[in-house]
Amino acid sequence: MIAHLRHLTRGLPVQRGQLKQLQQLRSVSYLIDQPEYSFLKDLGLERDNPGVFSGHWQGRGKSITSYDPGSGQAIATVRQGNVQELQQCIGLGVEAYKQWRQVPAPVRGEIVRQIGDELRKYKEPLGKLVSLEVGKIYSEGQGEVQEFIDICDYAVGLSRIYAGQLINSERAEHTILEAWRPLGLVGVISAYNFPNAVFGWNAAIALATGNSVLWKGAPSTPLVSVATTRIVAEVLRRNNLPAVVGLCQGGTDVGATLVADKRVNLLSFTGSCQTGRDVGVEVQRRFGKVILELGGNNALIVDASANMKMALDAALFGCIGTTGQRCTTTRRIIVHEQLHDSFVDALTKKYAQLLPRIGHQLEAQTLVGPVHTQQNVDNYKATIEEAKLLGGTVAFGGSVLSRPGYYVEPTIITGLPHDASVVHRETFAPIVYVLKARNVDEAIAWNNEVEQGLSSAIFTENIGQAFKWIGAQGSDCGIVNINTTTNGAEIGGAFGGEKATGGGRESGSDAWKQYCKRATITVNHSGELACAQGVVFSVE
Ligand code: NAD
Repeated sequence: MIAHLRHLTRGLPVQRGQLKQLQQLRSVSYLIDQPEYSFLKDLGLERDNPGVFSGHWQGRGKSITSYDPGSGQAIATVRQGNVQELQQCIGLGVEAYKQWRQVPAPVRGEIVRQIGDELRKYKEPLGKLVSLEVGKIYSEGQGEVQEFIDICDYAVGLSRIYAGQLINSERAEHTILEAWRPLGLVGVISAYNFPNAVFGWNAAIALATGNSVLWKGAPSTPLVSVATTRIVAEVLRRNNLPAVVGLCQGGTDVGATLVADKRVNLLSFTGSCQTGRDVGVEVQRRFGKVILELGGNNALIVDASANMKMALDAALFGCIGTTGQRCTTTRRIIVHEQLHDSFVDALTKKYAQLLPRIGHQLEAQTLVGPVHTQQNVDNYKATIEEAKLLGGTVAFGGSVLSRPGYYVEPTIITGLPHDASVVHRETFAPIVYVLKARNVDEAIAWNNEVEQGLSSAIFTENIGQAFKWIGAQGSDCGIVNINTTTNGAEIGGAFGGEKATGGGRESGSDAWKQYCKRATITVNHSGELACAQGVVFSVE
């Protein structure tokens, strides 16, 4: 509203009365000032917030307003960092690392444990902020903070057990050791759809393994970045530690500088394939390490033997959860030709039941919140138009809802060829293409023919098909599920995907190794020098 008035009065002399009106509007038009949004103040947020932390808070870059996608109203503002501030943050992050690497790993784990406990204290308001700023429903906002808490627990245990190995040497009285040491400063650039958990996955493991972290969150979710960093900063302050976690909110200029700076030893990037490709090349150019967590185009296969009820429930959450804005969202359902028509019919009925549950993300009965921005709405409309032009049929949905905020109908499209251009593209909106396949082999081939390789699932009761699916001739994705959804991974396994998804792995299993450098150490305790492979090289 203020922006609108400013726009209208630009270049015109503003009368006293108008100025007063503007000031009054300013005082009432931010959600943070309204009593029902007092949880924002519980997180230490104010109407205007500094967006840079490196031991103290500042922000001399552009000020941006964060909006509620469910109403279009302004929540609060954040003063972003500029490139110079980012460079200072990098310098301070490197200094902080030099102290942190000397702290014993289990003691670092104790700090991560405290971060997890602090997050538990703030789970309710922080989860609500995640919902409010992204547009995801209340339980998903809470779930996202829970994911950060879970990875803290994981990292605490990891800090006591991550280890190298002892390798047999071919030389007598020699021992080969393998040690894992921290890399240094880890830069984290995250996407808008998981503004809290993606930072958490990276930070908890990076800290436990002895690195410092510098984060740039998405420009449209700056309040989650600030609130999350405040929680972590309080733990660091209580323990008298330097800023081993820093934040520099900013746009593309800040992101690109973080990517290019040689002092950033590992750059963990989460975002679109398009941006990720450039980031990957840039980091490789300077021989830095990179983790790329990019887009997905995830398929759910329904075999002739599938448990239909389970497959339908999985499709519902897979396609519509987070209003179609997870990297692991089900974007293609490949159904055996015998079941195709009945599956589409049953899925359409389930979608219809969800229509009354579209609403503001913080309302208790809402299951489908808004998409994040007008850009998502525009992409949704353009994709549906393109699908229709290519011969697709809108079996359900297809419309933008006329109400404040960014609401669209979850949409099912049938009748497109498996390799149509829209089917092969990730559109970050709740649109799914249902494809008809003759058999599982064909379905697997279609699953694998897209550029991305993040997540995939098959519904089958046939053990032969199940094992084919997880074998070398099966799904080529990083996540290969059986009888469960493509989305909603747990933190225990390594998370990430192949091909244009970037090949990175985060979270559980041995993903911690990516935050370390490996040293191979040969110790000669024989008292004599001996070369490997029997090479003789000596003079009397
Ligand atoms: P995006 O690529 O537009 O932005 C991601 C981040 O990159 C933002 O912080 C942005 O400011 C920053 N950025 C933009 N240009 C940059 C540049 N030149 N250099 C450095 N940083 C730059 O992505 P988005 O729209 O925020 O998120 C949606 C995308 O993220 C989807 O493709 C989704 O699949 C993907 N995603 C992947 C995962 C995963 O783990 N694989 C998880 C979440 C989201």
